Amino acid sequence: MILLDGRIASAAVKATIQEQTALLVKNGKRRPHLAAILVGHNGASETYVASKVKNCEEVGFLSTLIRFENDIAEKTLLEKIEELNNDALIDGILVQLPLPKHIREAKVIETISPAKDVDGFHPINAGKLVQGLPSFIPATPYGIMLMLEHYNIYTKGKHAVVIGRSNIVGRPMSILLSSNLPYGNCTVTLCHSHTPNLAEICRQADIIVAALGRPGFVKADMVKPEAVVIDVGITRVDDPTAKKGFRIKGDVAFDEVASIASAITPVPGGVGLMTIAGLLKNTMQAYISSKW
Ligand code: NAP
Repeated sequence: MILLDGRIASAAVKATIQEQTALLVKNGKRRPHLAAILVGHNGASETYVASKVKNCEEVGFLSTLIRFENDIAEKTLLEKIEELNNDALIDGILVQLPLPKHIREAKVIETISPAKDVDGFHPINAGKLVQGLPSFIPATPYGIMLMLEHYNIYTKGKHAVVIGRSNIVGRPMSILLSSNLPYGNCTVTLCHSHTPNLAEICRQADIIVAALGRPGFVKADMVKPEAVVIDVGITRVDDPTAKKGFRIKGDVAFDEVASIASAITPVPGGVGLMTIAGLLKNTMQAYISSKW
């Protein structure tokens, strides 16, 4: 069994980006610059944003963290995004989700300039992805593709089962795996909460991508021997014995599935780190495409 180690694969991606950035600086160019907006004080969101900012610094990017309280008016947030859209020295903009209920998530996403939409959530980028046109790919599916590439996982002609159809993970993942790409060309089944016989469908999969947010959902009896298993799930599960009072759990029952899979991602230490790698790649791409 191969452990698809996000630390190793993301370090390789980051090393390349770091070299590219160092070369830019050596040639007198400015550094790529990511602006991250965080609304409120959600613990998981705080952790994700802090990690994104830290990773930007590690590869030599500039980053700006803009914080708002939970009760911020939607209008104020949209105005800030417009300001960043018009700032020639900002390459990428991300707004950490989820947002408070009084703010329309779709409106926020659509306000980000598609040219700076390094999360790849804007409908224009989503549409381009569907049509196989160059676009920003949502960071998590992008990171998974980078992981498949790093470990040279053969995908052509394989049956991939993606569990979960969200706009940020499952649906774009299903599009990428079914696209005519070096690590695509799969036949894809996209499953969701209304899919009957899910276990039976999973047992037919050569590749399973679990992105549903149900800890330990994928059990050994749902997995074909030698399948490749990608665990996207990140759920905080209460555990009084843990230092922080919780543990991070994936959507796959790792121990039992690892014994039959040919390759598997751990949680933590798998897809989460690749998501950051995808975001950094998108930010570099936004910088390269900008005329500044
Ligand atoms: P989401 O928006 O809640 O979507 C979950 C999807 O799973 C939905 O399509 C839902 O179906 C489906 N689903 C839920 N229960 C199911 C069941 N019992 N059987 C089959 N399908 C089921 O979640 P998300 O944003 O895609 O995130 C999914 C997981 O990935 C979460 O744990 C999240 O924290 C994690 N995540 C990790 C990363 C990372 O970097 N590793 C990044 C993003 C998200 P319906 O559409 O029918 O409701």
